[in-house]
Amino acid sequence: MTRFQTLADKYDTPLYLYDFDYMREQYNKLKEAFRAKKSLICYAVKANSNLSVIKHFGDLGAGCDCVSIGEIKRALTAGVKNYKIIFSGVGKKDEEIKEALQKDILLINLESEAELARVEEQAKLLDKEARISIRVNPNIDPQTHPYISTGLHENKFGVDLDTAKRMYIKAKNSNFLDPVGIHFHIGSQLTQLEPIKEASEVVSDLVRSLKVLKIDIKFFDIGGGLGIQYDDETLIKPYDYAQAIFSTLHGLDVTIMCEPGRYLSANSGYFLTKVLYEKVNGEKRFVIVDGGMNDLIRPSLYNAYHKIEILGKDADEETSDCDVVGPVCESGDFFAKNIALPFTQHDDLLVIKSAGAYCATMSSNYNTRGRVAEVAIDSQSDRLIRRRENFEDMIALEKDYLKD
Ligand SMILES: *Cc1c(COP(=O)(O)O)cnc(C)c1O
Repeated sequence: MTRFQTLADKYDTPLYLYDFDYMREQYNKLKEAFRAKKSLICYAVKANSNLSVIKHFGDLGAGCDCVSIGEIKRALTAGVKNYKIIFSGVGKKDEEIKEALQKDILLINLESEAELARVEEQAKLLDKEARISIRVNPNIDPQTHPYISTGLHENKFGVDLDTAKRMYIKAKNSNFLDPVGIHFHIGSQLTQLEPIKEASEVVSDLVRSLKVLKIDIKFFDIGGGLGIQYDDETLIKPYDYAQAIFSTLHGLDVTIMCEPGRYLSANSGYFLTKVLYEKVNGEKRFVIVDGGMNDLIRPSLYNAYHKIEILGKDADEETSDCDVVGPVCESGDFFAKNIALPFTQHDDLLVIKSAGAYCATMSSNYNTRGRVAEVAIDSQSDRLIRRRENFEDMIALEKDYLKD
C-alpha cells in the first residue's frame, strides 16, 4: 500500500497504475484452461488500448480483437502480427474495411448482410479474397446489466441464425469472400455459465449444418465478456468455461477464439486520486477529489461499482456516509455514492480499484482537463507508459485555426 503513495508522489495524481504481472497471470490462466484444443486469445483492445498494454499481451502470444482501424493500427504498432488480428464492430466504414484488407489481418467479423456486400466490394476492388466470420446473435439473455447485454435480438449486434446461414452461402459463392469463422458475444461481465453454453450449443449446431453445405468453419469465436470481481460477484472459473464450450462442440475440429477485455485487464488497474476538500451540504457529506468523470466515467455512465480505499487509515477508524465526487461541473461526476469512509484530509490518497478496463480508454478532455498519466508496474519496477496530457496537447488541433 505504501507503494501507491510512493508512485503518487513520483508521478502525481490523478494516475492510472497497471499491474503487468496480474495481466500475465490472467492471460496464462485462460490459455491454460483451453489447452486441450487449439486456441487464440484475442485481447479486446477497447478495454485498455495503451500501446504497452497491447504489447504486453502480444508478447504473451495473444492476438487482438479490434473495433476500428485505429485499434488495428495500435495492435500492429505494438508488434502484434496481422494474422492474429480480427476486426469486429457493427459500423465499419469502407475506408476501414479497405485498410484492414490491405493489412491482411486474420479476418473481418461481419455484423449484417449489408456489411457483407460492402466487404465483398472492397475485396473485389483490391482483387483479394476477404477472410470473414459472421457474428451470430443467438437470442439468449446473458443475465447481465442491460447496457452491456448484446446477445438478444433487441440489441443491435450480429444477425439471426437464418440470416447468418444465407450470408455464409453468399460468401461461399463469392470469389472475393472466404468464410472461415463464426462468432458470438452475448454480453459483458458474464457471471453465469449457462447462457454462454446455450449460445455455444446454438452456434455449434449452425457450424454442423454449414459443414453439410461444404462450408468449413475453422475459427469458433466465443466472444469476450467473462465477468470479474468488482464487488462480491461469484465468477465463472476459466476451466469450467473452457469445458462448457468443449462440451458443445461434439468433436468439431475448430480453433477456439475468445476476446476477453475486462477479464485480462480490469483488476490489474488502480486509479489514484487525492482528496482536495471535504464539505457538508445540509446533511450530506462530500469528499471532493482531484480525479473526475472525464478520467473514469463508469460510475457516471453505468452506475458501475468500483471499490474505493483510503490509504493510511485504520480499519477501526470512525466512518460516516459520503459521496466521493470529482471537480467536473456535472452532478453526475461521482465515483461512489453513500459509502462509509473515515474523515479525510487534504492530500489523502484514494485508490479506486478495478480500473484497468474501460477507464482510461473512455477518458476525455471535458472541462479542459488533460488525460492522466498511465504507469506500468512490472516485476517490482515501475515505468511511465503514457505521459500526462498538458495544456498544449489539448489545444494543439485548434490553435492554428484562431482568427484575429
Ligand atoms: C467489448 C467486446 C469484447 C470484450 O468484452 P469484455 O467484457 O471486456 O470481455 C469482446 N468482443 C466483442 C465483440 C466486444 O464488443
